[in-house]
Amino acid sequence: MDVTPTGTATGRAIDSSATATTTSTGKVLVVGGTHGNERNAPWLLEAWAAEPGLLNAAGLAVVPVVGNPRALAEGRRYRDRDLNRSFDPALLADPARVDWEVERARALLATHGSSGKEPCLVAIDLHSTTAAMGNSLVVYGRRPADLALAAALQGELGLPIYLHEGDPRQTGYLAERWPCGLVIEVGSVPQGVLTALVTEQTRLALEAALALLAEARRGRLPQPRRLVVHRHLASIDLPRRPDGSPAALIHPLRQHRDWQPLRPGDPLFLRPDGTTGAYRPPVGLGENPVWPVFINEAAYGEKGIALGLTAREVWPVEPQWAHALFALAAGLVAV
Ligand SMILES: [Zn+2]
Repeated sequence: MDVTPTGTATGRAIDSSATATTTSTGKVLVVGGTHGNERNAPWLLEAWAAEPGLLNAAGLAVVPVVGNPRALAEGRRYRDRDLNRSFDPALLADPARVDWEVERARALLATHGSSGKEPCLVAIDLHSTTAAMGNSLVVYGRRPADLALAAALQGELGLPIYLHEGDPRQTGYLAERWPCGLVIEVGSVPQGVLTALVTEQTRLALEAALALLAEARRGRLPQPRRLVVHRHLASIDLPRRPDGSPAALIHPLRQHRDWQPLRPGDPLFLRPDGTTGAYRPPVGLGENPVWPVFINEAAYGEKGIALGLTAREVWPVEPQWAHALFALAAGLVAV
């Protein structure tokens, strides 16, 4: 059975069981500028610092933080390495690693981690993308509390969800290091460019997330009956010449078509001579349609990724997801 993310599932509220308990308290960490060339979220953080009332935090204590202030000041994605691939526990534990971003990841965890000086239980990491992802969520793995929050946000706003899991080429995401965490990803917007639409979409998704966390803290959470996820399958690159330079472009019929099905034989690349390169499934993917994400994301060129391929799946929402979030959210500090 297949449903679209918006408006097809009947909402319901799940109440906390009397047994939901928590052992720790903390705030909600809101991170912008994890990538220094994504300026819309840092602009919002600055506005909220000057006038806190501009953010409706739903009564929760929020800690706004610029993820990578040095990279932001320099207008680049990172200095030494991608901060949002620098939270791998083995990397953080290696004393020989002293890259700026690894040190920054350690500092963020020491200060704002769930056992840090100013503990936070939830991390909302705000990103923007040059791909036409719209207003979307990225969830890493299948932690029940993450899925509960993502399902509630999808039920409320209809946001599509990229479930980024099982990708050995990409690990060490910030949101994974907090007990509950996800990414709000908004695009398309060029790197380094501020737009009113992207800042507004970011603010709306964040405020909805905070309102839902406040509901979860009260032991109530609206949950749709089904969750639509786009589960990561593989990443593919542009065709390349022997010297590594691109031998083709993303086909114009595919550019800006994130979240739309791609079938074997569909146009995917455009060569310099005007001929079309068709989509051929990578080994192991079979002939099923796939749903591309992050098509032509500028920052992924260096990673050899022209687009991600996902499977669109519809999952029943499990009541234990919400209960996991209740147990955690009961420890969220109110203001
Ligand atoms: Zn980013």
